[in-house]
Amino acid sequence: MNDDINEFVNFLPTSFIIHHCPNSGGKTKGSGMKFRPVAQNRKGGRSAAIMPPANGTPRVSVHTLGCKLNYAETSQIAESFVAAGAELVLFGERSDVFVLNTCSVTENAERECRQIVRRVLRNAPDTSVIVTGCYAQLRPEEIASIDGVDLVLGTKEKLEVSKYAVGLRKSDGPRVVVSEIGESSDFHFAETAEGDSRTRAFLKVQDGCDYSCSFCTIPKARGTSRSARVDDILSRARRLCEEGFREIVLSGVNVGDFGHKTGTSFFELAKAIDSESEITARIRISSIEPNLLTDEIIELVATSCKFCPHFHIPLQSGSSKILRTMRRRYQPELYQRRIERIKAIMPDAAIGADVIAGFPGETDADFRDSTELINSLDLTYLHAFTYSERPGTVAASMPDQVPIHVRRERTRVLRTVSDKKRNAFYALQLGKEADILLEPNGEGYSENYVRVRLSQAVPNDAELVRARLMEMKGDTIQAEPLQVLGTRREEVLLKIL
Ligand code: SF4
Repeated sequence: MNDDINEFVNFLPTSFIIHHCPNSGGKTKGSGMKFRPVAQNRKGGRSAAIMPPANGTPRVSVHTLGCKLNYAETSQIAESFVAAGAELVLFGERSDVFVLNTCSVTENAERECRQIVRRVLRNAPDTSVIVTGCYAQLRPEEIASIDGVDLVLGTKEKLEVSKYAVGLRKSDGPRVVVSEIGESSDFHFAETAEGDSRTRAFLKVQDGCDYSCSFCTIPKARGTSRSARVDDILSRARRLCEEGFREIVLSGVNVGDFGHKTGTSFFELAKAIDSESEITARIRISSIEPNLLTDEIIELVATSCKFCPHFHIPLQSGSSKILRTMRRRYQPELYQRRIERIKAIMPDAAIGADVIAGFPGETDADFRDSTELINSLDLTYLHAFTYSERPGTVAASMPDQVPIHVRRERTRVLRTVSDKKRNAFYALQLGKEADILLEPNGEGYSENYVRVRLSQAVPNDAELVRARLMEMKGDTIQAEPLQVLGTRREEVLLKIL
């Protein structure tokens, strides 16, 4: 993997940003190990056999690349295989069926998809290989041309993988089922959890995007914007709380666009969640476009006991010229106002931003404008991405493409700026108390996204711990535990100990 992908990879496991794309935290990371269906015991009914198993239950492994939305959807795919009578095995173990949920956010994400498919087939030529996801939707023929691939399924077919797998036989050769994504109005819920800890859940509330940023393929891969119903989201969130989750991340492609077509809004959704007493988990907003982050949302977060004071607001560039050619829907001044508003009423709020380095036409002067703005903003961290041309996008055929080595150097500069900002933010948190949601490895995040490691042991079942932030140690803060506020359920504890 190159740096670009590494950045995605490093970001995902402990974080919650889900917005898929270079735009707003869309990260790519592969994992066949960490996901689990949120509710494996949900009634599903055992349907037809997935494939004729030579000896007993078919074994299925799944692997995900890309954003948390993909992860959430892979959970649903896995759950449907379990409901159909399959046994889930870890990625890398021998399986009868292998499903890869792909990403198309960068050229490297696609290359990695191809590499994984080839590796699986090299190690287990008899495994039936099914490929779905954004890359499959956008370039199915590229995937089908890999010798040994059995089935390529598009975005609309994605959540029905287990049905398409029924009767799949290696000898039938590649089959491609990819519907036009067009004006799809279907919304399919998906949710996923990190590992087995039942600590943090990602709940998909919105899908697709109606914007047309010139670098982005997401609308082509995922279709137009559509949202879940508020009532359905509330009932899913209640159930996640009943299952023991202490944090829910509201996720989507363009979350701020929630409800736009159904006469509601993200603010209305946030208000409904905030006032629902049975939703006891803390709530994070995955990522939100600056032009859709309204003052009323900011004020709700500031006054809410549930919403975490943490925003991820894609910037992409601090140059007004580049923002225009990116076809973003804001200018630096609006972005700046948003940050100032947040910080005025929530001085300790964490604010992250995505920035793309080396977009076509970005001169040294544009990059300087961009970094000057970023330096002046009270941001906590950046996710810096090296621009990569995506086939079929407007940006890919723009003149003045920036040489790769310049793009990489600019990415490096942005990452240095990010480190400085994070350190400065962390330094301001020292001496303060924070509620840390502990992961099984003993580290966790505060509500305002400080990565914390406790300086003293706490009981094995401690999950939510109030702690005093004491000392910076690399990219974490060491904290003294003060009080256990919440414990893990016994059945969860048994799984992770
Ligand atoms: S087109 Fe939509 S999904 Fe893509 S970067 Fe723009 S806002 Fe994000």
